[in-house]
Amino acid sequence: MDVKFKKKKAKVAQADCVACGSCVKVCPKGAIKVYKGLYAQVDEALCIGCGRCAAECPAAIIEMEEAVL
Ligand code: SF4
Ligand code: SF4
Repeated sequence: MDVKFKKKKAKVAQADCVACGSCVKVCPKGAIKVYKGLYAQVDEALCIGCGRCAAECPAAIIEMEEAVL
């Protein structure tokens, strides 16, 4: 049976990221990292869509998007 599940995943507007690292600290899965000190990047395979990073980001540039797995 071909069943697809929709799940929320964090998505960073990387052009506006100030690489503060706040999102990294609150992620319970280690799914978000600051890449080369430049911007945050989410590993979708690890993200459980809890939304903590989005709530913590001082620049409010993380959105929770539907992703079909
Ligand atoms: S939504 Fe949750 S699991 Fe996903 S990157 Fe943000 S804090 Fe981590
Ligand atoms: S909390 Fe927001 S501004 Fe800070 S590193 Fe994460 S995405 Fe970038």
